[in-house]
Order: sequence, then C-alpha cells, then structure tokens
Amino acid sequence: MTDDVRKELRKLPSVDRMLKQERVVDMVAQHGRPLTLAAIQDVLGAARQAILQGQNCPTAAQLAQQTGVRLAELLRPSLYPVINATGVIIHTNLGRAPLSLAAQQAMQATSQYCNLEYDLDAGERGSRYVHAEELLCRLTGAEAALVVNNDAAAVLLVLTALARGREVIISRGQLVEIGGGFRIPEVMAQSGAHLVEVGTTNRTYLSDYEAAITAETAMLLSVHTSNFRVIGFAHETSLAELVALARAHNLMPVDDLGSGALLDTARFGLTHERTVQESLAAGVDLVCFSGDKLLGGPQAGVILGTSEYISKLKRHPLTRAVRVSKSVLAGLQATLQHYLRDEALQTIPVWQMMAADLEQLSKRASALAERLRLAGVDARVVDGFSAVGGGTLPGETLPTRLVAIHGVPAQTLAPKLRHTSPPVMGRIENETFVLDLRTVLPGEETDLQRLLLASL
Ligand SMILES: *Cc1c(COP(=O)(O)O)cnc(C)c1O
Repeated sequence: MTDDVRKELRKLPSVDRMLKQERVVDMVAQHGRPLTLAAIQDVLGAARQAILQGQNCPTAAQLAQQTGVRLAELLRPSLYPVINATGVIIHTNLGRAPLSLAAQQAMQATSQYCNLEYDLDAGERGSRYVHAEELLCRLTGAEAALVVNNDAAAVLLVLTALARGREVIISRGQLVEIGGGFRIPEVMAQSGAHLVEVGTTNRTYLSDYEAAITAETAMLLSVHTSNFRVIGFAHETSLAELVALARAHNLMPVDDLGSGALLDTARFGLTHERTVQESLAAGVDLVCFSGDKLLGGPQAGVILGTSEYISKLKRHPLTRAVRVSKSVLAGLQATLQHYLRDEALQTIPVWQMMAADLEQLSKRASALAERLRLAGVDARVVDGFSAVGGGTLPGETLPTRLVAIHGVPAQTLAPKLRHTSPPVMGRIENETFVLDLRTVLPGEETDLQRLLLASL
C-alpha cells in the first residue's frame, strides 16, 4: 500500500460521521436506521475498494448522495410492470395475459377478508371450489369444474389421482416439452402413471392406440402440441376417434388443451385452435388448460369434466398442494363474466389485442412516429407481424404496423429502454429497434412516448 492510498483511506468518514450528514439524517427519518446503515456500509465498502485501486476518496457529501442511490436500490422491488411493445400478446417472460380492469379490481378487492371458504347463506364453512365452478360449467357445458394453480398442476393431478400405477397411452408426436422444464414424459413419471408411447413422431393412427390397450390401461391422453407444428407427412388421430376407442374399452379419454380458447381464433385470420367447448363436445371425460393463455385471465389451471372424476380430484390430497388462491379465483371469475356477457373481445386484453384492426394500429403507430420526428428522431412506420405467443398458434402471425427507430444502434437503445421506469420492451428486426403498439395498453402510450424521448 502506498502512502497516497493510506492517506486517502484515512479520509474515509466513519459510519457515525456519515449518520450526522444532513441528507443521511433525513434518510434515517424516512426509511429507518437499519436500512440506512446497510446502505452506508455498502457505499463505504465500495469507496474503500475504489481507493485501494488508486482513486481519491469522495467527499462526505458525495458519499451521502451515493447512500441515497443505494437506499433506492435496496428499496426497489424486483418485480414491477413493464411496457410490452414486442407485439407478442401472450409473452410468458412478461407474465402472460394482462388482465381486464374488472379482473384486476376483483383481485384487489378480495385481498382482504372475503367469503373464500364460508357459505354466507348457510352460515357455515363452505368450499373455495364453488366460486368459479358454476361460471365455467355455464360457459362450456361441462358437468363439473376444478381450478388449481396452473395447467402443469392440473395434468399432474389428473394423472396422479386417476392413473397412478396404471398405463396411459399417448402419441409419440405429443410427448412435448412446453418450456420451463415442463415435459410430458417427466410429469407422467412424477405422477406414477406408466407412459405407453404409440405411433411415430409424425404419424399416429387409431390402430396404434388400439394395439397398445391392455388390462392395465386407464387413460388415453391427448396433449395439444402448442408450441411447434409438424408439417409435411403427418397424421394425428382425431379427438373424436380417441373418445370412441376409449368408450369401447371403458377407458378415460383426457385432453390437455394448453391454451384453452373459449372463442374461435379463426375469426382473426389465424388457424382454428380447438376450443374448450369443442373438446367437451367430442366427449372427453376431462379437459384441462391454463387460465393465463388464450382465456386471458390470471395464472390458473382449469379442469373440466364429469362430476364423477372431478369429485375424485377434489378429494385427492395433492389438490390441497396445488390449490388456487382467493385473488386468482376472483380474477378468474371476473374474466369469465366477460365471456358470459359476450363482451370478451371488447374487455379482455388478449382478445382486444388479437382483434385490433390494422387501420387502428397504423394510426397509433403514425401518431407516435410523428411525435418522435418532431423531437428530431428518425422514426418510420413499417409493415410487420405480431404473434399470439404463449406457446399457442406456433409460427402464426397477425399483420401489424411497427414504429422503427433509425439513427440509433438497436444494441444501444434496447438495453437503455430496459432500464427506464417502467422498462420498455421492444424487438430488434434487421438490426433496427422496432415497437409494436398492438401489445401496448391504451393507458401506456403517453408513458411510452415520454420514455422514448428521454432515451433518444
Ligand atoms: C402451456 C401448457 C401447459 C402448461 O401450462 P401452465 O399453465 O404454464 O402450467 C401444459 N400443457 C400444454 C399443452 C400447454 O400448452
């Protein structure tokens, strides 16, 4: 250690001296002593390291200012809203479906005491499972319903409760990995059901299922291949054929739909996704899907089907371990009510975004580009594509109009916008930073414009 370094280190104020700085006194008053002390220690530690590397000791005022910055960092939650300008509607990394206002309010309203498990008419203990059940049955024609934590939990529960120790037949083409480590063969192993793979990757026939049925078979499982598509020489057995085969052999036909659309995606020029109603109409005993994909609600797993199997599921001990929270039930109910009132396309964000027409998107993009140009930014409106995302409708896109930012390298702009408050997520296309307003909520446009102007 040189004399110079020693001299600088001696200048470093003590914690006590820092605590006497006027700004720090304010910090203690506002955020408490323990947290302020932690921030001071971090700042002094960093300053010491910098001095050892040859830098001069900052002034006490500078250190107080740094303490303020560190305090803000310590207080900042790690989870906060972001503006999604990627054009991917169900963005799994950005929390999947954004909720309708009514769903948000319902979740907030039940965050205090509520009648979650209390029957107010009878004046006695009730069940949390009644809350969304009636609505789900009315909307889909199902006999009974059960809501759990997510679709992965729904599949695990169905297999564990109804096929443990027995065989479940599934097509090789449907042994999928959904992402985040959710692989059908692994879930099957976890449940204790025995997987029987039939057919090949690209072609599975009814006769393949039939030949695999033994005295140990409990279930024929269909899994929606949500996130990829086999093109070319391919064949999957239809759900109706599977149901007929299951009935003839007294087996359970079960459908893991994944996305759980209650409305037809074909009306937006996309491929028709099998709806929940169609799956039930095909005659399956159980169908399960996510709450936060095409349904447009909070994270949940919905299981619909016959009263006999749903009551078995409700009684299984695993159900308690994957149970749904009161706020999710409230948000799900509010979301389902939009379908009941036939207003889903107008009120549920994922459907609003899918339904947004090109002319409207074009207007919004032009208005934003115009404002950026007035501030001297080279912003241009170009044709592009949005995606549904969330492992639904793979490879399919919706035509859109993008705002492309030129004159600033995308590699510089993208990280800068990821650190604004709130962060802005865009896309990089052909080395250019682009924003798709389809996924930007109406109330976010002013913020988006302000953040862009500040960053450019
Ligand atoms: C998305 C998906 C799942 C997993 O759903 P989570 O709600 O994310 O647990 C399971 N199966 C299929 C077919 C899916 O598409």
